[in-house]
Amino acid sequence: MKRNTKQGKVILSSIKSADRPLTPFEIHQLAVKKMPRLGIATTYRHLRILSESHQVVGVDYPGQPPRYEWADGLDKVHFSCRACNKLYALEDTTEDSPPAKAPKGFKVQGFEVMLYGTCPECE
Ligand SMILES: [Zn+2]
Repeated sequence: MKRNTKQGKVILSSIKSADRPLTPFEIHQLAVKKMPRLGIATTYRHLRILSESHQVVGVDYPGQPPRYEWADGLDKVHFSCRACNKLYALEDTTEDSPPAKAPKGFKVQGFEVMLYGTCPECE
């Protein structure tokens, strides 16, 4: 059980140390530097546990691999680099107003905003 806790901590700190949402594969690559025997299946298992305990949040966009980011409680908008496919978290400045007004009869339950382009590394 103790070892389990340690694995979870290493995985969570790897996610925190990144300034952007990471795929489970990227999280594993980071975590394995601190814990060389950590397996990918174990990484997935801990991601599920961390997600269920609301310490990390899943970031899912259509056509994008699932990613995870640290649940710091801040609203975020994501920037997608079209060159390297990395996703970056940005501070949400939309103040929760949708970019379009739904016509009468439509019930809006949410909206997603994503910025895209090239990141400084790719520019
Ligand atoms: Zn890039």
